Amino acid sequence: MVSVTVWNEYRHEREDDEVAEVYPDGIHAALADALAERGHDVTTATLDEPEHGLPEDVLDGTAVLLWWGHAAHDEVEDAVVDRVVSRVRDGMGFLPLHSAHHSKPFKRLMGTSCSLKWRESGERERLWTVEPGHPVADGVDETFVVAEAEMYGERFDVPEPDTLVFLSWFEGGEVFRSGCCYRRGSGRVFYFRPGHETYPIYREETIRHVIDNGVRWAAPDDGPSPTFENVDRYEG
Ligand code: ZN
Repeated sequence: MVSVTVWNEYRHEREDDEVAEVYPDGIHAALADALAERGHDVTTATLDEPEHGLPEDVLDGTAVLLWWGHAAHDEVEDAVVDRVVSRVRDGMGFLPLHSAHHSKPFKRLMGTSCSLKWRESGERERLWTVEPGHPVADGVDETFVVAEAEMYGERFDVPEPDTLVFLSWFEGGEVFRSGCCYRRGSGRVFYFRPGHETYPIYREETIRHVIDNGVRWAAPDDGPSPTFENVDRYEG
């Protein structure tokens, strides 16, 4: 069981009927359901709450933070971004999902533009599990399909992942690194691509299973807390 906070921008679902039909209670609710039914302790937070729902005490109780944003990345206050990034470096797990590739915390943690190609035309996506021994791939098939997806194509301007677990092919011919694992400081980051707001992708069992795996992998463990200081000799 991991203490998870699911953060969602929560604008499309309130402003666009087509999206509201797919996620009537918000994308965060669908993700929270998936994780709660797999035994995690889940809370949610959204952009329009005070401090975007992420005051210090919420982050104190968060082992892994999921992040879904798209249209309002720029509205996320830098003070909250600073707080999230510093928590990740101190060990909090972080799962930016789909269009969170352009979220402020992910871009800050990567240090690159995190830009990509995209096309929204309901294309078939075939994902390949290219690192089957990784914990994020536990119990996942070698290949699986999202029937209707927004295309994301390379180049995806991120640093080379520490481990690339999933690779996507789209029927228009593009490929994309869809499951990228990083370590930043003491924290673990898993970027997972599927999840456009007009397709019910977060209701698919395989996708929910991968996100659960990502949460378990990214959760901090009980390693030592390093100190950074001028020190005396330990030996002789
Ligand atoms: Zn999208």
